[in-house]
Amino acid sequence: MRRISVFGSTGSIGCNTLDLVDRAAGEYRVVALTGGRNVALLAEQALRLRAEVAVTAHEDCLDELRGLLAGSDVEAAAGTGAIAEAARRPVDWAMSAIVGAAGLPPGIAVLEQGATLALANKESLVTAGPLVLATAKAHGGTLLPVDSEHSAVFQALVGEDISAVERIIITASGGAFRDWPLEKLAGATLAEASCHPNWAMGQRITIDSASLFNKALELIETKEYFGIAPERIEALVHPESMIHAMVGFNDGALMAHVGPPDMRHAIGFALHWPERRALPVERLDFAKLGQFTFRAPDEARYPALRLAREVMAAGGLSGAVFNGAKERALDGFIAGEIGFLDMAAVVEEVLTKLSADSLINADISLDTVAATDHLARVEAERAIRARV
Ligand code: NAD
Ligand code: MG
Repeated sequence: MRRISVFGSTGSIGCNTLDLVDRAAGEYRVVALTGGRNVALLAEQALRLRAEVAVTAHEDCLDELRGLLAGSDVEAAAGTGAIAEAARRPVDWAMSAIVGAAGLPPGIAVLEQGATLALANKESLVTAGPLVLATAKAHGGTLLPVDSEHSAVFQALVGEDISAVERIIITASGGAFRDWPLEKLAGATLAEASCHPNWAMGQRITIDSASLFNKALELIETKEYFGIAPERIEALVHPESMIHAMVGFNDGALMAHVGPPDMRHAIGFALHWPERRALPVERLDFAKLGQFTFRAPDEARYPALRLAREVMAAGGLSGAVFNGAKERALDGFIAGEIGFLDMAAVVEEVLTKLSADSLINADISLDTVAATDHLARVEAERAIRARV
């Protein structure tokens, strides 16, 4: 039986992962499930799948979790330390689906076991790409991308030589505001930014899709995971979200990965890899779909993409600066402290302020990434305060 853990099991990716696990529950022994404040769902998942331990990120939720698990064999635990402990419990496969920089340490702990890490948490590669890859290599761990675009690229590269790759194109739906006039964007509300035209996802990535910060993170993720030069990586707006990525080779051929916008495909691919197994996703009818459309992303509308290019060029810890500032700016937008367009302005201000060589070129370790993340949030907070 394969031992598996799911970090962030109560989120959108986590629930989709457990949907696939449920369909063949006899094949898996569930070690750890972790969540946040939704302890009712966490407890229900842990009881259903007979997990060894259920962990909430919040200590003040522990009593409630204990109560819900009373009388069962499932252990209850809480806090960041408990998530770290859960990540050290031996597994064969784990899903990294916590949102934000908090997803990095448990993923590193899984790779240190030499296990397979299915990585939905793109922030791990953005903040600490070289550390994640080096940890996998040093301990014989396997890192599989779960972000739909990166899973698509990975699949297009099966049997190919990366040195024959000329370019990688990752597509973007364009998010909630792709058809809005530029002058209206400043007034975009939280409710408007929280509706994705094609994908059902957590609120944070949905808003990041509207601002194209999600695509910005994914450009960096592509560079880090595949080791491709930034100028060979393109983002392309494709409103139908059916082509997830295209890989262009030196003979001019393009391999496109096409499928419905359902994360269970990328999750299932990583769950069953290196096999392919039947998955419960819709089969596309091209005659019915009729046409696919494309347009270049408008960088005036989406400064996040330009900032991602600066981060890719700078390397080092600039990804941790970018992500930390973005997370704090996003909190600010969600809390109503700043407007939609202020998010990119705040991130740009922080990147400019924290661009010293000594900071960017420090060693990438869990400690330096955490310290940089903290500094970026403090600077973003200051930039937000200056605006309100
Ligand atoms: P979500 O908000 O739906 O779920 C996040 C999960 O992380 C929840 O279980 C939550 O309790 C937990 N969590 C949140 N903050 C935490 C913290 N500080 N410490 C510990 N646990 C915490 O998010 P999601 O949409 O499932 O996305 C998860 C990750 O996958 C993100 O990194 C996102 O960018 C990436 N991703 C998501 C999708 C998607 O379709 N949802 C697609 C590609 C990549
Ligand atoms: Mg994606």
